[in-house]
Amino acid sequence: MTRTPLIAGNWKMYKTERQAEEYIQALLPRVSAVNGVDVAICVPFTDLRAMVDSARGSRVEVYAQNMHHEPEGPFTGEVSAPMLSELDVRGVVLGHSERRALFGETDKALALKVPVALAAGMVPILCVGETEEERDGDETDRKLRQQIRDDLAAVPGERLADVVIAYEPIWAIGTGRVASPEQAQEAIAFIRALVGDRDSEAAQGTRILYGGSVKPDNAAELLALADVDGALVGGASLQAESFAQIVAAATP
Ligand code: PEP
Repeated sequence: MTRTPLIAGNWKMYKTERQAEEYIQALLPRVSAVNGVDVAICVPFTDLRAMVDSARGSRVEVYAQNMHHEPEGPFTGEVSAPMLSELDVRGVVLGHSERRALFGETDKALALKVPVALAAGMVPILCVGETEEERDGDETDRKLRQQIRDDLAAVPGERLADVVIAYEPIWAIGTGRVASPEQAQEAIAFIRALVGDRDSEAAQGTRILYGGSVKPDNAAELLALADVDGALVGGASLQAESFAQIVAAATP
């Protein structure tokens, strides 16, 4: 089964609407000739409407960075799936390690959020990964097994391939330290096997990204790995030029 690579830029809490506009005007011509790779930018809520409008008709899709599982309710500061999908937001990052570590995002909440995103027609990018301590303690497999089991518990087998999983070793996020190709391939093949334990056909269709200090100069090597189906890019997605170079590296 062929899996179309996805390069997703996670802007985190960067870019006002004006800065986002300048960025998208610089990005669109740089990726307009690209074929065979899906491109997404995951932007702050305040940039969503402008980015959806500016990217309409292009190959760039606009994703959010978080979402509540309830459609509406007394949840001050939260944003729901219907609010995102009405804006034509195509996907959402769920369970980023910064949200888990800094904002108390739990596997229990993710188990609710992932199916809600799917039901709303959005692509969830579920982030999983181990801390440095867990890797040093040989706990990587246990952590990944637990996160995949718990976070995807309520996704039926026939929808598993619609979830994008991002393997993001926490020690490689924003640190400039990148997983070696062997580490990335091993962890991502392991995640694919875990999905395969649920549904072997879905596992062949599930896109699994690598995330953690992906830059233009290391992207090609990581993206060439057998089980790596793209990248979730933080820092290097903030400049249109470097993000476009990573998109080019993913082009088959
Ligand atoms: C991320 O935020 O998901 C990420 C991978 O960041 P960076 O590329 O900056 O390490």
